[in-house]
Amino acid sequence: MKKQFAVIGLGRFGSSVCKELYKLGHEVLAIDSNEDRVNAITNHATHSVIANGTDENTLNSLGIRNFEHVVVAIGDNIQSSILCTLLLKEIGVPQVWVKAQNHYHHRVLEKIGADRIVHPEKDMGIRIAQHLVSEKIIDYIELSEDYSIVELIASEKVAEKSLIETNIRAKYGCTILAIKQGEDINISPLPNEIIKQNDILIVIGHKNDLKRFEEEGL
Ligand code: ADP
Repeated sequence: MKKQFAVIGLGRFGSSVCKELYKLGHEVLAIDSNEDRVNAITNHATHSVIANGTDENTLNSLGIRNFEHVVVAIGDNIQSSILCTLLLKEIGVPQVWVKAQNHYHHRVLEKIGADRIVHPEKDMGIRIAQHLVSEKIIDYIELSEDYSIVELIASEKVAEKSLIETNIRAKYGCTILAIKQGEDINISPLPNEIIKQNDILIVIGHKNDLKRFEEEGL
């Protein structure tokens, strides 16, 4: 289903969110107070406007209340990011996702009702580090302080075994959500599904359990 998004702030983060949403076929309104940034996004957004995201009248005249989802990607200017988020929540935008600069920024955003707060540099750093420390880890998504989803390469230890035989859930407390074989992805695989060497296993679990599985079970 086609959705309507607005992205406010078109730095590296905001512009890549905008381009990707547009590429995925959604309607995207791109907003930045800097003319050059707006010009650079014109061909990668449905509409693009030079506007100040902290001006309530401007936000209203852009009809921002009609957007289901607004991304605030104002970088260094924490004050503007907070004010913009506050206005969007007051106007009644249901989903306001905001890029935070630091922990204090995060806490304020939480208090004023941001629906999701992201730390792209921090999250990417964690993912890259996970990938660096183990060649078996392809990707890593942190769900909370304790739980994660990882993509792991199936080694010969589990190859040619069914999910039941590997007994991963009982032994390690982890659950295989999906198995990727080349371009194919099998979501919610059955217990008798056979794992092949070099398949990619998408596994959810407690971080400690995932680590144990990766170190001992694969
Ligand atoms: P990144 O770290 O993602 O590259 P930047 O700090 O470079 O982020 O980019 C933030 C963008 O937000 C800049 O293009 C800047 O012009 C824009 N911006 C800053 N304040 C406002 C505002 N009040 N309204 C709209 N855009 C803003």
